[in-house]
Amino acid sequence: MIDHTHEAAASWVASANGHADFPLQNLPHGVFSTAGGGRTGGVAIGDKILDLAAALSAGLLDGAEAEAAAAGSLNGFLALGAAGRTALRHRLFALLSAEAAPAIQARAAACLVDAADCALHVPAAIGDYTDFFSGIHHAMNGGKLLRPDNPLMPNYKYVPVAYHGRASSIRPSGHPVSRPNGQRKRPDEAAPSFGPCRNLDYEMEFGIWVGGANALGDTVPIAQAGEHIAGFCLLNDWSARDIQTWESAPLGPFLAKSFQTSISPWIVTAEALAPFRIPQPPRPNGDPAPLPHLFDAADQAAGALDIAVEVHILTPQMRAAGLQPHRLSRANTSDLYWTVAQMLAHHTSNGCNLSAGDLFGSGTISAVEDTGWGSLQELSLAGRRELTLPNGETRMFLADGDEITFRAHAARDGYATIGFGPCRGAVLPAQ
Ligand code: CA
Repeated sequence: MIDHTHEAAASWVASANGHADFPLQNLPHGVFSTAGGGRTGGVAIGDKILDLAAALSAGLLDGAEAEAAAAGSLNGFLALGAAGRTALRHRLFALLSAEAAPAIQARAAACLVDAADCALHVPAAIGDYTDFFSGIHHAMNGGKLLRPDNPLMPNYKYVPVAYHGRASSIRPSGHPVSRPNGQRKRPDEAAPSFGPCRNLDYEMEFGIWVGGANALGDTVPIAQAGEHIAGFCLLNDWSARDIQTWESAPLGPFLAKSFQTSISPWIVTAEALAPFRIPQPPRPNGDPAPLPHLFDAADQAAGALDIAVEVHILTPQMRAAGLQPHRLSRANTSDLYWTVAQMLAHHTSNGCNLSAGDLFGSGTISAVEDTGWGSLQELSLAGRRELTLPNGETRMFLADGDEITFRAHAARDGYATIGFGPCRGAVLPAQ
């Protein structure tokens, strides 16, 4: 629901006003630590973080919601449900608004820390991680390489396709990724060899934080699925394409994906994104309607999100020359064929139990046009086309030292633009 916390309003935290990611209207939750300190829940506001444990101690916040959000792991916060998150959002908005009484501002200012001085952590204990495949243009681009005349598998428009990912190797933005070793076999090689991945890639995805749990055996009807979705982040499903090609038949990705997944560490709540909900784009003529358990009129009317997502690369040579990162692609979360409610309803439709702190990846988000393709596998046509960067360097896949950064922003006339903060990782050589 859109309310007063989405309207134009200033914060007494000066850096929040006009901040590209974290103005007063965003208020994302995360877990941070300062040098020598323990992990604490916080809220990003401009270039600062409001230390919620300090705010509780100072008597500026109270109650179960604030205590859950101040913890060093946010599973309890994720389990709050929309009512609890909204109540806390209203308290935080009032506390950080320029309308707050001067004495309150002074006490709250003592609870701020500079974000630049903090380490940000994976914000919750992730029980299970599931990676969907809902970016239809990504699915088409991948399928065309294998089946030019019939790129999508026959299940694609009926099933929100997914596989079980690996939760233990999820790391926050800034953590480098080591080039994995694995079995690789080029078509011209008679047998596989074991060694460093030759075709290291990223996948630009949207992360979905599960809130409310369902018991084993219980399904979540699609009309209620939104109540089980607490927030969102950006997710890089690092992918070893050569290892993937060799290992995936017939069960799908395994070691090609499990070596690391990176996420942006701030949980942008479902409430913060309320102004950016849009109708799910109509399915093209001839596509089947979703089966009844995956169809809800309200979800079709407002279950998609309008968020621009971008991928940037900075190579070691660019860094040495003082160049800015180069944008490789720009797409939008509305390019997803399935809504997040459809993904969640599908996930529980067999009685599979989800827990607060489970994480979904949306699948790679690609636009129709190649300026919006969300992986190098697509941009390089699976290693058949070199990309030329502005400084003349070329890439088909990632080189050691390359740094990939995802950014995302939601903008709408009449509302403050909000963002997710970066999801960044640099490639280390194979060990
Ligand atoms: Ca993926």
